Formats: sequence, C-alpha cells, structure tokens
Amino acid sequence: MHANRAITRPMTTMWQNNTKWLPLSLLGCICLFALPAGAEEDGGDDTSKETASSSSDDDIERIEVTSRETLGSIALRERVSVSKLEGWNDLELGEAREGMKLIVKSDEKVESDHDKPLPVVHVIQKGDTLSEIAGRYHVSARQIQQWNPDLDPRYLQLGDRLKLYVPGRDGESVSWGQASNGRLYNGVPLRRAEGFEIVNVAEAYGTQRVVDLLKAAAADVQARWPRSPDLIVGDLSHKQGGPMPPHKSHESGRDADVGFYHRGNVQLERFREMTPETFDARKNWHFLKTLIDTGEIEYIFVIYELQKQLYEYARSIGYTQSELKDLMQYPRPRYQSKGIIRHVGGHDDHSHIRFKCGPDDRRCQ
Ligand SMILES: [Zn+2]
Repeated sequence: MHANRAITRPMTTMWQNNTKWLPLSLLGCICLFALPAGAEEDGGDDTSKETASSSSDDDIERIEVTSRETLGSIALRERVSVSKLEGWNDLELGEAREGMKLIVKSDEKVESDHDKPLPVVHVIQKGDTLSEIAGRYHVSARQIQQWNPDLDPRYLQLGDRLKLYVPGRDGESVSWGQASNGRLYNGVPLRRAEGFEIVNVAEAYGTQRVVDLLKAAAADVQARWPRSPDLIVGDLSHKQGGPMPPHKSHESGRDADVGFYHRGNVQLERFREMTPETFDARKNWHFLKTLIDTGEIEYIFVIYELQKQLYEYARSIGYTQSELKDLMQYPRPRYQSKGIIRHVGGHDDHSHIRFKCGPDDRRCQ
C-alpha cells in the first residue's frame, strides 16, 4: 500500500533526450546547466508517453483505504490534491472510510519534489582538482565521486563532464545544514491558502515539501469540517534561511510555528493561549496526526496540558495506549522527552513542528 509510485523517467533517457544544454559562464569556469524539457517547446521525444494526459485504464489505480487513513494522508502519499481525490470519487464531505476503494488517476499525479533534481554539469578545466571543485559548488569530494562513479579522481581529464547535484541551482528548494545553523535555498512561501492565515509572509518560507505537507494537512481538516477556522501560521524561515532571532532554530526551512484550532470554530487573529476549554482537541488531533502519518515529522512541541487533551481525544476514538506510545509523550512525565509530540514550555498558544530532512536536503541534521 505504501509503494512509491512516483513517475520517474529513466535517468539515462533524461540525460540523453530530455535536456537541453545552456552554456553559462559562471564562477570563472564554463558550466552547462541542464534544464528540464518543459523549459523548451514540446520536446516530442519518447519520454513524453509517460506523462501523456490521455486517460486509459492503465492510468487508473484503485487504492483501498486502510484503517485511520484520511483523504489528506492519501493525497500526500499518492501525490495528488485532496480536491482531485474528492472529484474522482464523488466524495462530498471528504470522508474516506476504511475499506473504501478510491480511484486515483495516475496520469494526473505531479512529479514529486523528492525526485532527484537535474544535475549541474561541470566541464573539467585545466588546473581543476576534485577538492577545489567540491569547495566551489558547496558539495563534498565524496559526493562528486558517488554521482560520477566512473571518475578517477587522480586523473581528471580535461573536457570531462562531472554531474553535480548542487543545492538550489535547478530551482528546487533545499534545506541545508542544521535547523539551528542552516540555510534555505529557493525558499517557497506559505501564502494565504485554504485553511491558513499567515502572520508575516516574509517569515513564512519553507522547502516545497514542508509547505505542501502543511497545506495538505490543513486541507484535510477543512475537508472533514468545512466550517473550520483558518489556522494562524507564525514563523517558518526567511526566504534564504539563516538566523531568525529570537528563535534558536527556524534557519533551514524545516520548522513551522502553527497555532491551534479554537473550539466552536472561533477564528483567531493571532496566537492565543489555549486551555482545555478552548482547545479543539478533535481538529488539532487530526491536523497533527495527518502530518505525523506522512512519516515526515521529527517532533512537535505542545505543552503537557494540551497533550492530555489530544491523548484523551485519541483514546475516545479508539486508539490504544500502545498505539499512542510513540506518538506522544503524555502520559509519561513531562520531563521525559519521548514521543513525537512532546512538552516544551511556551507552546501553549502554538505548536512548533520540525520536519525531518528531505531526500534532496543537503548536509541536513
Ligand atoms: Zn518555533
């Protein structure tokens, strides 16, 4: 069920037929930047078959909904939008029940940002050494050898082409380094989207993956409860990452401060301290659980008292103690930092969500 069915083009075909070469003189060397075929007119090459838009039976997959999956988590996994899933399956309230067979049109899947980006090509010049090239492109010599297995670092040949997967060079957003000492390349803004109010757009940049996951989780809550208020979003990262005082992290596009749903569908204007009386455990649970179900979350800070609300709600809808053990710290003592959802003081008016390193992120820790 969790098979990764990304539409991927064979790298060799892409290399030969699906790129055009654009000479650029940069950094004092002659470099060739690979652009995707989409940047040119219709390529008309043989790879276009794989993304052709004519639907046939081959393009339709039937996905069985397993226990506790939501439309949002299925949309994330299958790389389609929640509204498309609703449309294909005639689901009005966005309800996906266990055992239901859902249609997914595979020809409409978007290519994942997790797919390997196109490489930058460095043409070896006189005097080049591997460590010098590595330093220039902010990658390691070992990585260059991995990307170019035929390369013999002792005998670099003039005119040979090295493939380099350089952060951000191809327009992909990349988280670089540590959340507390990092950068963000090609940061993507989390704009006012369905289900969100952004406090400061200039401080709400993340990687494409982080932004997509947040949007999908909020869309899932909106699909279940159409009158839900928008979530208040505080800081993610600056467009290019880097220090964001007073935060200790938020430097690499993998952190997000997100407010809580208020009971009674009250629309908040900014973060508001929550109490058990105002905290909408049901919607907050579904939002956070949808994110956690993607497997992309490292941890979420929520104060202990509000964790208790989440825990009791989850128990009331059938989750067992052992199912919740890895998910949240509660009911372990608040000083035991275990579970994805855990206590850090101050997180009574918002949660701090840390996303794991993505496959394209560099030197990510
Ligand atoms: Zn934070």
